[in-house]
Amino acid sequence: MEFTGRHLRGFAYAREASYRSNFPFKRKRVGAAFILGSRIITASNDMKTSPIASKLGSFHGRMHAEMSVLAGIADGSQGELYVVREKANGKMGMAKPCAFCQSMLHEKNIRHVYFSTDDDGFDYLDMRTL
Ligand SMILES: [Zn+2]
Repeated sequence: MEFTGRHLRGFAYAREASYRSNFPFKRKRVGAAFILGSRIITASNDMKTSPIASKLGSFHGRMHAEMSVLAGIADGSQGELYVVREKANGKMGMAKPCAFCQSMLHEKNIRHVYFSTDDDGFDYLDMRTL
């Protein structure tokens, strides 16, 4: 699929959010942003602990960036979720939402998910087809 400036902006917002990660491992940073039109609805990053983690549950003791973003948006929100992982070497890595996050996306009826892939690639997930 062809990515346009709108998508690149979405990825840039998610990447920016990843820099606010407080997770102690610097091997990778993950950020997520939910974009509606040209507005950022909410953006977040991987967190070790969070006030909303206990409400939403967490995966392996880790609050995934997607989880905290999903907490900030209404069910069935039109819009696009962007998830970016940056590796220690500065390259993008695989940021496809895990099975746990995908089930939350289904519950929330979020349809469009864009994520970074290894070696600076990007990919798209249409949640309706899963
Ligand atoms: Zn996840």
